[in-house]
Amino acid sequence: MRAVVLRAFDAPLELEERDAPTPRDGDESVLRVLACGVCHSDLHVAENFFGTELPLVLGHEIVAEDEQLGRVLVYAPWGCGECRFCRATEEMICPDAREAGLFQDGGYAEYVRVPARRYLYPIGELDPLQAAPLGCGGLTPYRSVKHARGWLRSGSHALVLGAGGLGQFGIQFLRLLTDATVHVGDPSAQKRERALELGAEEAAPPEELEGPYAAVLDFVGSDDSLAHAARLVDRQGIAIVVGLFGGRIPFGLGAVPHEAQFMSSIWGSRDELGELIEFAQREGLEYTIDPMPLERAQEAHDLIRSGRARGRIVLTP
Ligand SMILES: [Zn+2]
Ligand SMILES: [Zn+2]
Repeated sequence: MRAVVLRAFDAPLELEERDAPTPRDGDESVLRVLACGVCHSDLHVAENFFGTELPLVLGHEIVAEDEQLGRVLVYAPWGCGECRFCRATEEMICPDAREAGLFQDGGYAEYVRVPARRYLYPIGELDPLQAAPLGCGGLTPYRSVKHARGWLRSGSHALVLGAGGLGQFGIQFLRLLTDATVHVGDPSAQKRERALELGAEEAAPPEELEGPYAAVLDFVGSDDSLAHAARLVDRQGIAIVVGLFGGRIPFGLGAVPHEAQFMSSIWGSRDELGELIEFAQREGLEYTIDPMPLERAQEAHDLIRSGRARGRIVLTP
């Protein structure tokens, strides 16, 4: 089969011919990949942010064809299946998780081996190209908005920091799942304009925002964005960091607003993926897909790294 393989960190991705995987035991399946989204965290994998062993096939936003279930979205944070997190379907928190495309071969290939049938979620009438980015780009903001919901009654204000791909999903989930007014902080005029089109009440450069906001969702996660989150979150509010930029801020009495809560939100649970697929079928989320063949995987990474990607890039093996 053809697969895009990461053979060395910070080196170009290579398209190569290799043997297709075979199932090793009863619960494993080998599926033909129909579409695989290119996620910003794929770039972090290629930069050795996660300490991955190589060679590796990247890709964790995988739609594939299953003989019994038809077209499925693959839940990619593969956990041990037995710990309390896995039993609660929160496999992305499993201390022994071996995620597809991060620690095991993922979906930048014609076939993918999936270790258990519980990871396969039928997508119904959704288009495979549209469904692929839901596996991470959609699921991650979905979970973070669910965390924030308890703070967002009618008349409250939510802030989204960073209106890139995840932030744009976040704005839509806040509008559809909460009664809060949505504000957006982003330095890019183009992204602020898109945020307003998606229903944000206000969009401004982060330093111009005054707050306070009952919930702040930080889709950047840099030192700067976290400092804005700590400055703008209300007393007894919640600040949730989602972005993988690796920033840090001081925490302690006097360093943050009184009784504000700070938490991280990582990816999403299996149950949430099931909910999100139903939700996407019902609500018709707005996001642009830019399909590319496997040959252009490196170009896709370059576009994302330079901020020139037009929407979510999805590889079509
Ligand atoms: Zn586990
Ligand atoms: Zn991702």
